[in-house]
Amino acid sequence: MTIEPSTFEALGLSPALLRALAEQNYNTPTPIQLQAIPLAMAGHDVLGGAQTGTGKTAAFGLPLLSRLSKTTAPAGPRKPRALILVPTRELAVQVNDSLKSYGKHLRMNFGTIFGGAGMGLQVEMLRRGVDILVATPGRLIDHLERGTAKLDEIEILVLDEADRMLDMGFLPAIKRILAKLPKDRQTMLFSATFEAQIKQLALEFMRNPHQIQVAANNTIAEGISHKAHPVDASRKRDLLVKILAERFGEQVLVFGRTKHGCNRLAEQLEEAGLKAVAIHGNKSQGQRQKALNAFKAGKARVLVATDVAARGLDIPNLPLVINYDLPMVAEDYIHRIGRTGRNGMTGEAISLVGSDEGPLLKQVQRMLKKDVELVSVEGFSPTRPLQLEGAMPNARRKPAHRPHGKPPTRHSHAGPQGRGASAGRGAGSRNGFAR
Ligand code: AMP
Repeated sequence: MTIEPSTFEALGLSPALLRALAEQNYNTPTPIQLQAIPLAMAGHDVLGGAQTGTGKTAAFGLPLLSRLSKTTAPAGPRKPRALILVPTRELAVQVNDSLKSYGKHLRMNFGTIFGGAGMGLQVEMLRRGVDILVATPGRLIDHLERGTAKLDEIEILVLDEADRMLDMGFLPAIKRILAKLPKDRQTMLFSATFEAQIKQLALEFMRNPHQIQVAANNTIAEGISHKAHPVDASRKRDLLVKILAERFGEQVLVFGRTKHGCNRLAEQLEEAGLKAVAIHGNKSQGQRQKALNAFKAGKARVLVATDVAARGLDIPNLPLVINYDLPMVAEDYIHRIGRTGRNGMTGEAISLVGSDEGPLLKQVQRMLKKDVELVSVEGFSPTRPLQLEGAMPNARRKPAHRPHGKPPTRHSHAGPQGRGASAGRGAGSRNGFAR
């Protein structure tokens, strides 16, 4: 029997891993998995250009589990042998869940540590011993300082969503953690973009990394239709309720610009009889997880989110994404819209555009390299016509999360000039690392 080169079997994964994949209906490896798994299984360092939704967790998770399952842990209390650093608690939970499901037929202990939760349980978990540790950098530093986490037996390090960790000001924490790790280890770094700081990090801490890249940063699925409704800001809520009412039970992801605005909108939708939950940076870990679970379980029809809270979350493929507010940076439009039209399915993106948001729409059109169809809804025509030219609205976004009170290392959320100017940098930023 010949084995297709594009199957998980052909990638040399163990029967225990193949069984777990089959149970989850992972039939074919995704492009990032096809590229990363052979390199990582051969022991190379890997620098992967990929966003959430590409299957990157299995791309690093399967070779990681494969390697750990081949070697035995040193005698004595188990210390972590693999460390995965992630920017947020949500991603920590998500990555841990995925790794656990891939490794369910292996005898492996998993643990997560992140801020916003008590230290006690985490200390206890570390004391009992784990093989694989998923952590946010800030909280891991706390554990290192207290001596409750030991990293001297780490064989594999993964930096997941490295660009986002840097955006959140985690660079100093990451460097402190790196200094505690054995030099002789395998390192994998995944990032949607590769700006100078990430390249520098890779040059300093990786051994001749092999670079791989899937789907350029600003690729938008073909099957998505984009539409914009001009409307007065004061009537946006009514228009949203009308759109949702016409959609009969379809689940919808709605993006707002501010935490407060998202909260208020979810409350107002509830008042209008629509089951809605909000997720943003001001909510506690428990509240965010609860809201996401309610949406995933279909108990809430509408998930209202800020960009920062939604990034990196494994929100299922949805037929419709609504921009209640347009993003201040066009790049975020792509992240938002990436929640629909996945895997060749069709999707719809609707933007409610207030009269001062014309320039933001123009910015989106420029990035999409096409016009977004402007459709006036009867009864909701704006009192002032929409002007695409002119000054940007003045709503600066504050960083949603500053670990340990540190300022962000760069203008991650500083407004249009900040990241808008760099939209698409991932696509053209292939660098000179080994292939
Ligand atoms: P990730 O980019 O790792 O967050 O993965 C995105 C989604 O794709 C998750 O829901 C995974 O469970 C799913 N996924 C990853 N790889 C595969 C695969 N080879 N086949 C089917 N689904 C996959």
